[in-house]
Amino acid sequence: MSAGSEATNEGGTAVTSSEELHKRRDAAVARGVGSVVPYYVDRASGGTITDVDGREWIDFAAGIAVTNVGNCAPRVVEAVQAQVERFTHTCFMVAPYESYVAVCEQLNILTPGMFEKRSALFNSGAEAVENAVKIARHATGRPAVVVFDHAYHGRTNLTMALTAKNMPYKHRFGPFAGEIYRVPMSYPLRDGGLSGAEAAARAIETVEKQVGAENVAALLIEPIQGEGGFVVPAPGFLPALREWATATGVVFIADEIQTGFCRTGDWFACRHEGVEPDLITLAKGIAGGLPLAAVTGRAELMDAVHVGGLGGTYGGNPLACAAALASIETMHELDLPAAARRIGQVMGDRLRVIAARDPRIAEVRGRGAMLAVELVQPGTLIPDPAAAAAISAACHAAGLLTLTCGTHGNVLRFLPPLVISDEHLTRGLDILDAAFG
Ligand SMILES: *Cc1c(COP(=O)(O)O)cnc(C)c1O
Repeated sequence: MSAGSEATNEGGTAVTSSEELHKRRDAAVARGVGSVVPYYVDRASGGTITDVDGREWIDFAAGIAVTNVGNCAPRVVEAVQAQVERFTHTCFMVAPYESYVAVCEQLNILTPGMFEKRSALFNSGAEAVENAVKIARHATGRPAVVVFDHAYHGRTNLTMALTAKNMPYKHRFGPFAGEIYRVPMSYPLRDGGLSGAEAAARAIETVEKQVGAENVAALLIEPIQGEGGFVVPAPGFLPALREWATATGVVFIADEIQTGFCRTGDWFACRHEGVEPDLITLAKGIAGGLPLAAVTGRAELMDAVHVGGLGGTYGGNPLACAAALASIETMHELDLPAAARRIGQVMGDRLRVIAARDPRIAEVRGRGAMLAVELVQPGTLIPDPAAAAAISAACHAAGLLTLTCGTHGNVLRFLPPLVISDEHLTRGLDILDAAFG
């Protein structure tokens, strides 16, 4: 227990700070904003979070794949501190500055594809996705956008329409944006073992029959689905869609908001299959926890939009840009793609051992430090969200912060910071192992 970890209420009775904060929160914060755990953060580092009651958590969430370089990564802290003393905001659309340009230069180099690229910066993942769709529609003059079952692309009006799952993201928030068409995903556990090529052919046939390729501006896909359940499509699925998009003049947009920035063991998940998207949306891991997002892609698409057609007051804020440049340096310096592969190996080995003894685990899947287990009723493929909730609760009770996901809420996902120490990783896996019983 750290000093000051206990507060007293007016009656002089000791109450834990998280309890007290939770009461204040209930009276002040809209109920629609949920939290996974009711414990309030005091500070955090490379692989742990310490709450206001002095309890240390092992972090297998990384703020939803955001703090890939860890919380308070030294270079990020230094860069943001230096920037906050120079200027905090001018709006790039009013008076531009170097760090915005430097982030765009870095993104153009780092993202897949050797062609000429341009980038634009925004605040959130949803905003990046909205802008990628704007750019694709503008450049092609076509209306339709093709998305996939289980997809998650955000919570704004357009991105709710692009997102598959009703509860909690869309329920009673309609009407939604039009010209969005959903087609089947490759989901090896649940699509009867279709090959990547077969699953792509099924998706493409649906588009051609129901929409018509010549009406399609963009095909938007997460190379590994995030909120939808860490669904890894069968090999060949993404390349076949890429080939079809090229042949039909459809803009291929990869949503790498969750998979990007070293998470899957490469800088971007598309690279595992050699797929080069026309546009790529980025956010989450880009800036060590500061809010930043981007669209990067082919110069001729990005530059099709008239001057003034893209932007926003805060997009590419100087503090966030400083943090992004420092995060990218950290990723190079610490070779975080290799770190993600190593975490994936250690975590994957352990999860497969648990899966071998626990018939509720239908599958261990993912890539690098983006791994998940899907839970079912033993001997069936019937989703078991209650098991996922119970195991999560056991992890939380023992001090491991984990997340669930999946259309049915029956997937446990693991997203440690890529700088997590071996000791914390092992301790987290021990807790997880015990939580499975
Ligand atoms: C989180 C996420 C988004 C939305 O990002 P926000 O910053 O929450 O708006 C979009 N797409 C994917 C794949 C995501 O994981």
